[in-house]
Formats: sequence, structure tokens, C-alpha cells
Amino acid sequence: MKRRLYLETFGCQMNVLDSELVLNQLRAMGYEQTDTRDTADVVLFNTCSVREHAEQKVWSRLGELREARQTNPTMVIGVIGCMAERDSADLFRKFPHIDILCGPGELDRLPGMVHNAVLNTGTARARQSALMGKNTRRSATLHAAEDTLESLDLSRSFSPADGTKQAYVRITRGCNKFCSYCVVPYTRGPEVHRPPQNIIDEVKKLTDGGHLEVTLLGQTVNHYHYKHPDGRTTSFADLLYQIHEATPHLPRLRFVTSFPRDFSREALQAMRDCSRICHYLHIPAQSGSDRILRMMNRGYSADQYLELIDTARQLMPDIAIASDFIVGFPTETDDEFQQTVALTAHCRFKNSFIFKYSPRPGTHAQERYPDDVPEEVKRRRNNELLALQGNICADNNAAMVGQSVEILVEGEGSLASPPTVDAGHVELAWEKKKQKHPADHKQLIGRTRGDQIVAFHADPSQIGKLLTVKITAARQMTLFAEC
Ligand code: SF4
Repeated sequence: MKRRLYLETFGCQMNVLDSELVLNQLRAMGYEQTDTRDTADVVLFNTCSVREHAEQKVWSRLGELREARQTNPTMVIGVIGCMAERDSADLFRKFPHIDILCGPGELDRLPGMVHNAVLNTGTARARQSALMGKNTRRSATLHAAEDTLESLDLSRSFSPADGTKQAYVRITRGCNKFCSYCVVPYTRGPEVHRPPQNIIDEVKKLTDGGHLEVTLLGQTVNHYHYKHPDGRTTSFADLLYQIHEATPHLPRLRFVTSFPRDFSREALQAMRDCSRICHYLHIPAQSGSDRILRMMNRGYSADQYLELIDTARQLMPDIAIASDFIVGFPTETDDEFQQTVALTAHCRFKNSFIFKYSPRPGTHAQERYPDDVPEEVKRRRNNELLALQGNICADNNAAMVGQSVEILVEGEGSLASPPTVDAGHVELAWEKKKQKHPADHKQLIGRTRGDQIVAFHADPSQIGKLLTVKITAARQMTLFAEC
């Protein structure tokens, strides 16, 4: 009988990809995925430590599982990913019903750990196993050739019958930047760049299998550079050109997340020159104040960031750019926050992910800088920046009304209807006639090449296809269209 696996993923795209690879491996061992957590044979949480909120959710899930474990003593519970790496022994102490802890640098060994825990009928403690640290700073000399995690990426299997059209492909693991507020360099270890041929082969395999969009992943994806044994280097720009040439049938190639300091003009030119690379950048600014950027150890000034955005727009006038910000970083003054507001107003981002600073244990910022901006001030700054970005989103989206755009249809949606009256300050060119849709049509959601979300009504058979639609109305976060 097949064993049931419940796998829940928190955090970034890197975790989504890790979960997909873990799932593939466990399926090969005879597991089938279930949505019912409390009666599963194996429960895995793939966790994120970047924000406290994501950790709290996992703690609460683990608390809820205490009872399920009492009813079903053979249930195996595992915490994988960044929390397993960072909290390790603490997690076992707080939640003794956890059987497995496995950091992101050890995931190739997870199937063996699950197998052992399932077979071990001894005491709860005897079943416990933990693997962390192999891929962290403790082995900072790791080279791609010794990187057993490469086998995890290479093990990727998929069936065209799944119907999946979008895929992530990792090009770089880890991060060497040590932004002062961030745990990732400690949980995911040093940067390791995958051999270009392995990446190209993986993208080709996905394209041959019917995928229409591939997103290259790295914590600082544009820092990719692979040193070949013969001394040659493949840069990020080289890699983009090579993938683009090797996969002429792939309609969309993207990459996230970019690091401002690492962007070469060549990489931007590659985006401009290769027609199937989407003109979209997610490039976190984090702050508009040079002093705060220095405290964050970001390695660039606000002017350098603005220059990069201007260069990208000169080369690709249609580019959509998204950013991240942290407000209320220790010692941030109102004036410094206003510099962030000014940068946001200048850049007119497609969207921004805006967070109030919260100290993460073990980071430089948590150890050195008291969290001295009052919560109330953080909330006010957060709301002010959200409101500004909301207005920019509304303006950007309203300007798209009337345009025809290509979208990749991702699935069914349940987004609010398009506005029938003018929304806020934006004059929307929405036709006020009542929308009528055939009975077999549903609301579907697609994404433009610039990552804008588009809702429209059509037959669900359109899911997984590239379509050209006409934008008829806009809200702050959504465009509405008709086929
Ligand atoms: S670049 Fe900075 S914020 Fe991004 S993962 Fe690396 S340390 Fe964290």
C-alpha cells in the first residue's frame, strides 16, 4: 500500500523548488501526496527563517500535530529547510515529537532519513535524526564538483502528463553577501554556481517536456559565474545567451532574485538582445538612505541603484521592475525613510514587497543594532510606503487599459470583479456595460511577460496556454481582460 506524504512549503521560490525535488524523490520511494495532514504517514514542513511570521506558522503547525501523533504513533514528522538549519536542537527540545531535521544543504539525504524513521519502531528519541551544516559556512570551501546537492537537481523528473507549464531551475545555491539583517548566508551556506551545461540540459529537458516558462533561481541570481576547470568563466550574461540559443522553443525565460551591485551592462544587454527573455526584474532596493544601506551591508548607494534602474529602462523601455523594502531598520529616521519614499516615487516599481524590520536571531543586525524604531513608527512608515506603491500600481495598470498583451494562463481564479466605477484617484477606462460570459466560462488567471496578473473569462481548456488578450480594466493589483 502506498504511504501518504503531506508536504507543506513556506517561503521563497527556492523552497518551492526544493519541495518539488524532495517530492519527486519520495514518490520514487512509493509515497503519494495527500492534502490531509493529520492522517498522513509522513508530514514534512519545508521552512523559512527569513521572517519571524513564517517561523511562527510552523511552530503552530507543529503544536497542532502533537495530538495527531498521539493518535497515530507511527506518523513521521520532519522539519526541513532553513528553520531546521537554524534552530536545530532547539526545535527538538520544544517539539519532541519531531523525528527529522534536515537543513537545505542536506536534502539529497532526506529520503534515507525518512526511510530510517519509518522503519524505526523504537522510542521517539531513537527515531530522531538531524542533518544540518554540511553546506553552511562550516564547509565554506565547497566546490560545485563536490556538491552532492547537484545530484538532487539532476534527479529532477516530471511527466508531460502533469500539464505543468512553469518551472524553476536553480543556477546558484547559497549567498555570500551577508546583508546584516539576513539569515540566508547562514542557513543556505556559501555560493555555489552550477555547471552551465547541467543548467542548459535541465532547461532543454523541461522545454522538450512542454514547459512554456522557466525561471532561473538564485539568491543573487545575477551574480552567477562558473569557473571551468580549464580557467574559463561563464558569466551570467553568457549563461543567458547560451540558454536562449539552446532552447529556441521556450517562449519565456525569467530569473529571480537580482542583486543591484552585481548587474553588469552585458547581462542587461543579453535581456534586451534575447527576444524570449522576459523584460522583468525583481531587484530589491531595501532602502533609499545611503546610511541605512551601509548598515544593511548592501554594498551600493541609492544613486547607484537609481542609475541601474535608469540603464535598464534605457535598454528596455517596457521593462517591469519589482523591489523589496525594509522599513524601520534600526536607527532609521523620518528623513531617511523619506529618502526611501523618494526612491520609490522615482522608480515607479511594478510592485514592492514592503516589510517592517524584525530582528532575526544570529544576524549581525540583531547582535549589533538595538531594534529601536517603535512598532507604531514602523507601522506608519509601512502604511505610507504601501499607499504610495498602491497608487503607482494603480497608475501603471490603468495605463495598460486598451493594450493587447501576451499572457500565460496559470489557472482558475476568484479575484474581485473589475471596477464599474472610477477607483480612487485613477480614471479607469472600464466599459460599464454588464459583462456576460457563456456558462462554461470561468474566471482564469494569467501572467504577462512583465509579471502582471490578468483576470479574464474563458473556457478552462485555455489553462496552460499562451494567449493574447486585450486589457479592458484595471485595479491596483490586477488587470482585467477579454480574449
Ligand atoms: S543578498 Fe542579502 S538579503 Fe539576499 S539572500 Fe543574500 S544576504 Fe540575504
